[in-house]
Amino acid sequence: MSDKTLFQKICDKEIPATLVHEDELCVAFRDISPQAPQHLLIIPRKAIPRIDRADETDAALLAHLLLTAAKVARDEGFAESGYRLVINNGPDGGETVPHLHVHLLGGRQLQWPPG
Ligand code: 5GP
Repeated sequence: MSDKTLFQKICDKEIPATLVHEDELCVAFRDISPQAPQHLLIIPRKAIPRIDRADETDAALLAHLLLTAAKVARDEGFAESGYRLVINNGPDGGETVPHLHVHLLGGRQLQWPPG
């Protein structure tokens, strides 16, 4: 039985997703249950379970995820109106998929503080 995470299967195109960006380090695709008009996920191809499990050797990769999120927002046309980047870590953070992912949310006024 495969022990790949759900998001590894999306990276490997074993599970369909609406991809908006891919390169050698990461993939960006639309969230299946969007919480805003624009809701995308940026994930590393490397299977890092969560930000708490990243280390110094991942520094360039983490920077790439953030820069890719900003590029996707520009490419999708909502960078100017604004957006929010979110990383949920562990149970209290609301993490449900144990593969590091950056949420990119936009297309509406987001509230603060988050729930
Ligand atoms: P988390 O709660 O772990 O921070 O975020 C996981 C996100 O993955 C959720 O927003 C959820 O809607 C999304 N998600 C879960 N399964 C799938 C899937 O099969 N395809 C896509 N595109 N998104 C998924």
